[in-house]
Amino acid sequence: MDSPASNPPRGAGRYAPSPSGDLHLGNLRTAVVAWVLARDSGRAFRMRVDDLDTARARPGVAERQLEDLASIGIDWDGEIMWESERAEAYAAAAGRLTDSGLVYECYCSRREIAEAPRAPHSPPGAYPGTCRNLTEAERAARREALGPGRVPALRLRAGLPELTVDDLVHGPYTGVVDDVVLRRGDGVWAYNLAVVVDDSDQGVDQVVRGEDLLPSTPRQAYLADLLGLRRPEYVHVPLAVNAAGERLAKRDGAVTLADLALEGTTTRAAVARIVASLGGPPGADSIDALRGVVSPASLRSGPWVVA
Ligand code: GLU
Repeated sequence: MDSPASNPPRGAGRYAPSPSGDLHLGNLRTAVVAWVLARDSGRAFRMRVDDLDTARARPGVAERQLEDLASIGIDWDGEIMWESERAEAYAAAAGRLTDSGLVYECYCSRREIAEAPRAPHSPPGAYPGTCRNLTEAERAARREALGPGRVPALRLRAGLPELTVDDLVHGPYTGVVDDVVLRRGDGVWAYNLAVVVDDSDQGVDQVVRGEDLLPSTPRQAYLADLLGLRRPEYVHVPLAVNAAGERLAKRDGAVTLADLALEGTTTRAAVARIVASLGGPPGADSIDALRGVVSPASLRSGPWVVA
């Protein structure tokens, strides 16, 4: 057996698609970056399906996403984690926060939140604190008034307004922490809690994902701190955009492997475009060509304009 020194416990990177539709070139490219950075640093690579919201899940979508990821050469270690099977782990984590007095019930509708008076300098979108300091009697009355199928949302009693995280592409990033939702009013565990618990349980110590999630990162780092979990390293990848500079979307034409195939573009050709966009050798059509090429520094060149 290897001694611990020659075989240190390795961490892991991961990709965690939400099964809301087929992955487009920008999503696939982010997955490739996550895979390359994990493999190049000797980490394992995990796969997780962010299918928390089972009511909105569409059959077959996750399976197609996984097939597409495999078809471009991404492989992963161990079992796929499905968030829809993880409610107990999220409840346990929320329970620990509750035991520390850090959780309160929130009965507000979206509309009430939008219309509530706010403190003069509260950041846009921050929870106005309506349910933070209710009396027991007020709570009982509001619980009573919840509509059918509704449960109280659970919110974190955050101890600070904002937090700074280190991102390897963007540098120090300061963002709102806020009384983040841990469980929604429809009973679904919230993404920000799930991602922290899952990354820890999958041994993930390197989070590589789209730049659109950078604003959520201070909340997640704060939750990790409160739960006594190590913060992963963060690498937020600039997004793919269309010619107008807007985030790439399905309406931009043939941007998924299935659509490209209908146009006669092979998966290999799509991979070659992704490889070229990340500074790989011209004409290379395997993601292995990116080993040793992609780094947080190389990602600072900005968004990928998909023509
Ligand atoms: N499932 C999320 C998404 O597809 C990503 C979650 C994450 O990487 O933390 O946007």
